[in-house]
Amino acid sequence: MPETTWIIDSVTGALTVEGLSQSSLTAMTDEWLSQSVAVNCARPFHSSVINGLPILPAMTEPSLRVHRIYHHSVVEGPGRRSVLQVAGCERRCIGCYVPETHDLNGGVQMSLADVAAKLLAKAGAPRDGITILGGEPFLQPTGLLTLLQWLKAKGQHITLYTGFTLEELQQRDDASTRQILALTDILIDGPFVKELTENAGEWRGSTNQRILHQPVQYLTFIQQTV
Ligand code: SF4
Repeated sequence: MPETTWIIDSVTGALTVEGLSQSSLTAMTDEWLSQSVAVNCARPFHSSVINGLPILPAMTEPSLRVHRIYHHSVVEGPGRRSVLQVAGCERRCIGCYVPETHDLNGGVQMSLADVAAKLLAKAGAPRDGITILGGEPFLQPTGLLTLLQWLKAKGQHITLYTGFTLEELQQRDDASTRQILALTDILIDGPFVKELTENAGEWRGSTNQRILHQPVQYLTFIQQTV
């Protein structure tokens, strides 16, 4: 029997369920609850949040290519989180929930100032941190690093998803990548593997993915013991 997780947000009253098929959930919600909305692993529930935002920036301004920004996620890191979903991924995991984020030229080019303002905006309920997922965040290391520096300066807890493993990131031997890891509180690493979804538990899409707290320390440990 697959494991399911039920989360009730005591502030907004929203019920979030992980581990049930959409058809099972729909049957239950038709009878007992109001209409359900799919969120799933890394699948945002607001599809038009960034509609109307200015397409920026000047070429010299730090920026990121953004697919969506949304708030009140309780399945993508600890607590209630505001989420940045960047555009662009070349990994092509079979069964990926968000193929609409793969296009490297998709989404909207936004200034980091706009991204940070949208993420830190008052969302009507307390925020426990910021989650960044994709797409693949490490395909935009320069913008990602600067954004993380800004968010950490504001005291935000950072959860970062990547389709790369920590070892693959280490092999980059890249200063930006290492700095990004140093600013990350939780790294959820590795590709999505469709055959390993059962009992993945909270936050992860498949059991091969790891939840790594303070990943840069783990990276140092790896280097010291090789
Ligand atoms: S790394 Fe993430 S966004 Fe990219 S294909 Fe895999 S699951 Fe999809």
